[in-house]
Parts: sequence; structure tokens; C-alpha cells
Amino acid sequence: MKAIVKTKKAPGVEVRDLPVPEVGDADILVKLRCGSVCGSDVHIYEWTAGYDWMPLPVTLGHEFSGEVVKIGPQVRTAAVGDRITALPVMPCSRCDLCRIGKGDACGSKIVLGLLSPGAFSEYVRITAGAGIFKIPEGVSDEAASLCEPLAVAMNAVELAGIKPGQKAAVLGPGPIGLLTLQVLKASGTSAVMVAGTGADRKRLAVARKLGADIILNVEKEDPVKKAAEIAGGGFGGGLDVVFEATGNPKSIPQAIGMVRGGGKVVLIGIHPTTAEFSPTDLVRGRKSLIGAYAYEPDTWPRALALLASGRIEVEPMITHKLPLSKATKGFELAASKEAAKVLFIP
Ligand SMILES: [Zn+2]
Ligand SMILES: [Zn+2]
Repeated sequence: MKAIVKTKKAPGVEVRDLPVPEVGDADILVKLRCGSVCGSDVHIYEWTAGYDWMPLPVTLGHEFSGEVVKIGPQVRTAAVGDRITALPVMPCSRCDLCRIGKGDACGSKIVLGLLSPGAFSEYVRITAGAGIFKIPEGVSDEAASLCEPLAVAMNAVELAGIKPGQKAAVLGPGPIGLLTLQVLKASGTSAVMVAGTGADRKRLAVARKLGADIILNVEKEDPVKKAAEIAGGGFGGGLDVVFEATGNPKSIPQAIGMVRGGGKVVLIGIHPTTAEFSPTDLVRGRKSLIGAYAYEPDTWPRALALLASGRIEVEPMITHKLPLSKATKGFELAASKEAAKVLFIP
């Protein structure tokens, strides 16, 4: 089977021919329908700092949808023919702890596309634990493959404690930023600004299509001034929450300047270096800096429910669909920001 494999601690990936994985007693084998390229996959492709701990070679990919084609004799949570998506982090099902039902404490957890073979391959083997979710009817394979990043965006918005009527900004119109925008709209915010650079032109156009109230090019306009303007000189003169989804350390002091007194900055981006900002601005402004990473398992069924409801639209974000053999092209499209979301479809 074809698979997109990270083989070297250097930029690039390879398309390799690998054997279809064997299915153990507690495993299921999934035939890939759609694998979606995450910002972190692009970091791994470009080999930016922060991934040195990955054991190579490893098949990439953790955002996917597929069809169950084989199950082990112990499997009760999935049946052949099911359309599913699954948590990328799962107990291994093989160690002593997993065998006695203590998967939570499993020391050899499966981490798809980082520590264990990922989803960018024709078939992917996963453990049949609690992290498998049937895709509701009416949710397409394409949309379901974006369940994972949607869960990331939902978790970030939940951590911010967004209230109806509040005003927010999203820095960075990448996939996570675009999903955060949509979750904010669905949560009753009264204004959402999405900011990016000139290189983000195509992604900002998608943000506009998805309902962003204000689009800002940070190379042309000062986001801090614009935030104060949107806030309309209200309490503290800034936005209630700013979500940082660029991964550019320079955007952190900007985000802090954009929120009102008592406001929140939620960091979702993965930053290759340290950031510099004034702690005193945070202290005197009684502002909070919150790190948002991943999600709770219960976020997933709610993400699928939102997709099924049509309140979140991921289709406009899917700008490119490619076969696994066009791996390099897919990663280049995402890295150059030409694409919003790239899907690999076998
Ligand atoms: Zn992801
Ligand atoms: Zn285990």
C-alpha cells in the first residue's frame, strides 16, 4: 500500500510502498477515505524546530476518515463497513496495562503520525478503544476528516469562556484559525476579526466567505488600533478574547495589546522560538494568557454533531484534493499558504 513517510530529519517526505498492517485481536483496519493535512504535518514536512523526538521513519497523518474493513475477534466498538474517524492518541491494546483494562495508564500510547504509523496511507491500523467515532449520516468523508482540528478549535473557544455578544479576533487564517472563526460565530459572538499577512490573501478570502466580520492585513493596518476601534472605546478599549493561531512569536505581544483589561489571549499556535512580551502589561491589565492544546475526548462527538447540523461548514476550507502519490505537492501547497486545507484521497 502507498504511504506518505517522513524518513529523514530534514525537509521533505517520501511516498513508500508498505505492507498492509496485520490486525491483532483488539485492532481494526481502516481503509482511508480522506486524510487531512494539519499545520503540524507541515512543520514536520519542513522540519522546523520541535519535532526532534519523532522516531523515523514514520507514516504521517492524524486527521482522517475511513471505512472499517477488518476487525479483530475482541473488537466490540466497531463493525466492518462502519464509516469512522478516531482520536489520534489511543492506548496500545498490547501492553500488560491495556490487557487488564487500564488503557489510561498505557505507557506505549499510539500517537498517529507522530510516534506510530499515521493515516496518510491506504490502510491504517488502530486500536478499537473508546476513541473511535462513527461518522453521522449527512457528514461527508471530507468533512469528517476535519473533526480533529475542529475539536482543537472548539477546545480553544471553550477555554476562553466566550459569552454571547462578546467580540473576538483570530490571528492567523490557517485551518485552525478558520475553524476557530466558525466556532466563535456559532457561539454567539457579535464581531470576529480575522487577521493575516499578504501571504494569507487566499486564506483571508476563505475567512470572509465563512463569515468573518472584519478582515485585516497586519502588514497594512495595526491590529491593536483596529481592535480598539472594533471595541468602540468600551471597557478597557479592547476585544474580549484574541486567539493566536499564527505560530509567529511576534503576534503574542500584539494579541496582549488587542484585548481589554481582564481580557484573554488564547494561544493555539505552535511557536518555533521563544516570545518576548511585557509581563507588566499583562499584570496591570489583569489579562490572562491561556495555552490551548488538543481537546477532551468528549469534544469529538460534539464536533461531529456540529458538522451534522451544518452550523460549521468545512467544505469552503477544503481547497485541494490530491492522491497520496502527490504528497510533496500537497505539502508545498499547504506550506506556501496557497491552500487552506489539503486532503489526501487514495
Ligand atoms: Zn491536527
Ligand atoms: Zn498499552
